[in-house]
Amino acid sequence: MSKAVKIAIIGSGPAGYTAAIYTSRAQLETTVFAGYQSGGQLMFTTDVENFPGFPEGIMGPKMMMQFRKQAERFGTTVQDIHVTAVDFSARPFKIWTTLPEGTDPQKLADLTVDEQKELSAKIKTGEPEFIADAVIIATGASPIKPGILGEEEFSAKGVSYCAVCDAAFFREKETYVVGGGDSAMEDALALAKFASHVTVIHRRDSFKASKIMQERVLNHEKISVLWNTTLEEIIGTQVVEQVKVKENGEEKILPAQGVFIAIGHRPQTGIFAEQIELDGHGYVVTRQSATEVGVQHAQAALADGLVQYPSMTSVEGVFAAGDNVDVRYKQAVTAAGQGCAASLDAERWLERQDS
Ligand SMILES: Cc1cc2nc3c(=O)[nH]c(=O)nc-3n(C[C@H](O)[C@H](O)[C@H](O)COP(=O)(O)OP(=O)(O)OC[C@H]3O[C@@H](n4cnc5c(N)ncnc54)[C@H](O)[C@@H]3O)c2cc1C
Repeated sequence: MSKAVKIAIIGSGPAGYTAAIYTSRAQLETTVFAGYQSGGQLMFTTDVENFPGFPEGIMGPKMMMQFRKQAERFGTTVQDIHVTAVDFSARPFKIWTTLPEGTDPQKLADLTVDEQKELSAKIKTGEPEFIADAVIIATGASPIKPGILGEEEFSAKGVSYCAVCDAAFFREKETYVVGGGDSAMEDALALAKFASHVTVIHRRDSFKASKIMQERVLNHEKISVLWNTTLEEIIGTQVVEQVKVKENGEEKILPAQGVFIAIGHRPQTGIFAEQIELDGHGYVVTRQSATEVGVQHAQAALADGLVQYPSMTSVEGVFAAGDNVDVRYKQAVTAAGQGCAASLDAERWLERQDS
């Protein structure tokens, strides 16, 4: 028989745990599905220096253990399992956590839409393990990792995926940014405030970033560009020391202390594809999405001058928070803030259903 829960929170990063702290303190029975990588993205970093309340900084994994403890203190149940399929077509919402034999859990995030559909259909032939009155989706968005030689080995030892988070650690260092879109331009500019020099490595002969961002980068005295160049290898002993690049077919080894990968993020939303509205990049659309479609939804949800339930998705009773919605900021504190907002929306919405 399916286990009934009041609020199911899918995802255990800053958004999911913050939502859980609020819903469980509001005495709503809360279950967090932590997933195979419990704790979210901050489990893969070292110092977090920009989360308020930690003047000396805090290690990412330690911070996430504290988030979890705080949620558990108020009664949240944390299930260390992955949600593998959902059905939001009727209430209560159905949640499956089974995994067909032979499916590698670590590869779930990389499934194509069609593979995900096939897997979900297989899973949904059985009874759902859980049913929930309301759901908060907080599954995050992972930085796309190109799999360059040395990239994994030197992750958090000179290789970073977040310049806003880590630029300050690269004061007077020789740094590189890989990418050619707006996020690469933003990362290069953020880094140039600290690093001795920033080289943008781009595989084409022009950027796809907006004109204004390109101009800022191209006119910056501390930033140069390697056009038609690919990053082949990141080299070092304990930390990054060099990069091997291929420029117009010719290999070169260059001194390096920091490598920032800025080629985009992949929202972890495959299992929701046919259940709620996602945008063209897979981000969950809510009434507070910072996109045109988000603005349209907000407009449609206006009542007496206020947007009703800003964190609600296209399905009533399903809310979303954190990096899987956030096309713009992707910070722990913004994810936590959105988790708080989603939990308050869910609480108010549930009160209305129950009254
Ligand atoms: C290397 C690195 C360093 C960073 N450093 C900083 C920093 O110093 N400061 C800062 O503010 N930000 C930093 N960030 C950004 C920050 O980590 C994110 O903005 C934040 O973690 C987003 O929180 P979230 O809760 O939305 O998602 P996430 O942290 O991504 O958590 C989502 C969770 O959902 C789980 N999940 C996914 N699918 C399912 C499913 N189907 N079932 C169950 N669970 C699921 C995932 O496994 C994951 O545990 C860093 C990011 C990276 C990658």
